[in-house]
Amino acid sequence: MKTLRLILGDQLNIKHSWFNEPNDEVIYCLFEMRQETDYVKHHIQKVIGFFAAMRQFASDLESLGHHIVYFKINDQNNNQNLIDNLSKIIEKHAITNFEYLFPDEYRLDKQLRSYSETLNIPYHIVSAEHFYTNRDDLAIFFKGKKQYLMENFYRDMRRKYDILMVGDQPEGGKWNYDKSNRNKWKGDINIPNYKLFKNNVSEVIEDINRANIETIGRFDTKTFSYPITRAQGLEQLKYFCEALLIHFGDYQDAMHTDETYLFHSRLSFAMNLKLISPKDVVVTVMNYYRKHEQTIAISQVEGFIRQVIGWREYLRGMYWAFMPDYKSKNTLENYNSLPKFFWTGKTKMNCLKHAITNSLDNGYAHHIQRLMITGNYALLTQTNPDEVDDWYLGIYVDAIEWVQLTNTRGMSQFADGGKIATKPYVSSGSYVNKMSNYCGDCYYNKNKKIGDDACPFNSLYWNFLDEKREHLGNNFRMGMMYSLLDKMDKQDLQNIKEKATHIIEHQDDY
Ligand code: FAD
Ligand code: SF4
Repeated sequence: MKTLRLILGDQLNIKHSWFNEPNDEVIYCLFEMRQETDYVKHHIQKVIGFFAAMRQFASDLESLGHHIVYFKINDQNNNQNLIDNLSKIIEKHAITNFEYLFPDEYRLDKQLRSYSETLNIPYHIVSAEHFYTNRDDLAIFFKGKKQYLMENFYRDMRRKYDILMVGDQPEGGKWNYDKSNRNKWKGDINIPNYKLFKNNVSEVIEDINRANIETIGRFDTKTFSYPITRAQGLEQLKYFCEALLIHFGDYQDAMHTDETYLFHSRLSFAMNLKLISPKDVVVTVMNYYRKHEQTIAISQVEGFIRQVIGWREYLRGMYWAFMPDYKSKNTLENYNSLPKFFWTGKTKMNCLKHAITNSLDNGYAHHIQRLMITGNYALLTQTNPDEVDDWYLGIYVDAIEWVQLTNTRGMSQFADGGKIATKPYVSSGSYVNKMSNYCGDCYYNKNKKIGDDACPFNSLYWNFLDEKREHLGNNFRMGMMYSLLDKMDKQDLQNIKEKATHIIEHQDDY
């Protein structure tokens, strides 16, 4: 028997049981393909990062004695799509058994399933051995429930895996320290130098250029700074524990013109490619916390754990519970286009300028920049969620559909009608001012709703509430905002709406 095992670019889990022992009857294959580089326009650093990590992974497996077939992007024998490449290898090596790991993307899941059914050899699908939960665990957990509250899922995860628990009660007496995670960054604490790796990727860049792959964003060095191996992922994790965990929760939602990462971990790329697992992350963070309980508050640790065993696992479960319909949801009926400045960062709105420039420069923005700056703006300008998805799926190094789509279309754009978020994450300029220093030296005045120098977020916000009343007017959590809207002078509202319409129609002038 000769087995072919496929490893996708986001399945680089060297701890997988497949690799326990080399086997001369098994061939592993990995492909760099136009199918993957071209389904959306990706950030240049994302393509570099995936190829660099895949090449390193293949080379590491080879040195462990495994047999590998690797197609680089410009290889003559690369057919540039999964099915043709697989067929070619199956024929060439007289393969008698095909195996692959459960893909995390619906698109690839469907493609591989249909292909496998056409094969005249047996095939097997195996767990990728990464997540805490199985694909359908969330759907089972919420079966028969009207709401899919993350908080309920998260508490169940805490109990099930005995994380931050004392018996059946949450350690410290509270499940959630969200309220103490909202400090504004005033620059009064030293942020340690950021851990940036110096992976030499000049060969990968040359190959990408030669293949003429169209990308977005910038990359003006030859060294890739995110982890591309398990060892680097673990090093980044250790660094996070030692240098950043102590203030992670406090400044989780803060934004600042001088700070790209603040106390965020930058671990999503390594986790999403499965270089390290959520269990690696949780166990390491918890061990570190246990040794440093005198200096690290539980609110910092709980804030972080919630992202990993709560949000990350929850959104993956939601993806599998609601795909493929989820990808076309547009409950708020938004059809506008994103402005050009999303690809250049050239806007007078300081908050957007910083969040977008950070994204173009680093393939990174932290959660609140993604949610409350770019996402907030896209929703307030009533942008078509298809366009918003494409931008988010392309721009971030960590963007893979299962986690991008649910965060974007669900949490950020409320296009799923409230399955993930209980109310839309929209705000006027006052929230941005509360959580950042962006407004201080902005061209616009955060306090004004109309006039040439009025902060665009203000008129857009009230206009959005007014226009979406049919969808949101009965939302219990929006009640206070709608009663303020109802009390607004009719002429004032009219002026605000005219201003908002002008902004939406001339976004690139703002
Ligand atoms: P940290 O702030 O240090 O958090 C630690 C880890 O928790 C992250 O590495 C990540 O694995 C996990 N995490 C935190 N928040 C979330 C979340 N909301 N969903 C899932 N995991 C989370 N994350 C992605 O990995 N890929 C995406 O494509 C993606 N798209 C997003 C789009 C929008 C509109 C929004 C609002 C959020 C998106 N996120 C996405 C979630 C989050 O912004 C990133 O995971 C985070 O910014 C990554 O940076 P970090 O590793 O420094 O995170
Ligand atoms: Fe953004 Fe308005 Fe603040 Fe300027 S004033 S930074 S546009 S929120």
